Amino acid sequence: MELKKNYALFGPSGSDDEFAAEGHTATIEMPKWIKDRGLDLFEYSFGRGVRISKETAKAIGSEADKYQIEISVHAPYFINFASVEPEKAENSIRYLTESLQALRWFGGKRCVFHPGSEGKQPRSEAFARTKDMVEKTVEIIDSLGLGDLYICPETMGKFSQIGTVDEVIELSKISDNIYPCVDFGHVNCVLGGGLKTTDDFQRIIDKMFDGLGEEKTKNMHVHFSKIMYTAKGEVKHLTFEDTIYGPEFEPFAEVIVNNGLTPHILSESAGTQGKDSFFMKKCYLDLLK
Ligand SMILES: [Zn+2]
Repeated sequence: MELKKNYALFGPSGSDDEFAAEGHTATIEMPKWIKDRGLDLFEYSFGRGVRISKETAKAIGSEADKYQIEISVHAPYFINFASVEPEKAENSIRYLTESLQALRWFGGKRCVFHPGSEGKQPRSEAFARTKDMVEKTVEIIDSLGLGDLYICPETMGKFSQIGTVDEVIELSKISDNIYPCVDFGHVNCVLGGGLKTTDDFQRIIDKMFDGLGEEKTKNMHVHFSKIMYTAKGEVKHLTFEDTIYGPEFEPFAEVIVNNGLTPHILSESAGTQGKDSFFMKKCYLDLLK
């Protein structure tokens, strides 16, 4: 299974303040809004649960098709494949398959999820449990006829959460339809501000090329926003106005171009996702010239 295209793509996750200030209220207005801004993608969040009717999702999907905007979804935040409680682990499978069903209605291809949280277990046990559950989930996804959709485990911003770069690489090896989601804001939080130079970003990309090969690295899913952190990790999402926490997009844009990457890049800025994803796209296109 391969995803082939020639360029990095950009867009907002969720609706931003400008969308609301212009008087828009419904997601169905989003594909045109995104197209008008010269962007390519939209990520719909089911963070607090998968609550959308087939009818609404299909209507949004046909607008997305009309304006050639690709929709991805973010599965509920309460997924926890590391949970020691069988019921919670089983529910996690359901949250993911429901997200994929809605993704199908949208006509999209990618579903991001947070793998889990270690709780009171040793890290290695929590990760082994996560891996087993993701393997089981992949089988269920196949049996439901949803195996042509991609699931993307995300790198996380708190130490207690499963989702280091290495863990996401391991999870992405499980199946052809698992592609990594690298949230560089989160990675920067756990590195205590360690993503500054092109070399800092290149080291991550090299690790991914080594572990996952070209196809999955080049076409990875990316969340890129500036995020406040403390010694415990992530605190909150910021906008590109921030000059303290980072990471800055420019060095990563160089790495994208130098390595010929074609990722899907979503902004999760606090209220300025449209503007900030356009800023990223412009940086990237300027370098391509
Ligand atoms: Zn996320």
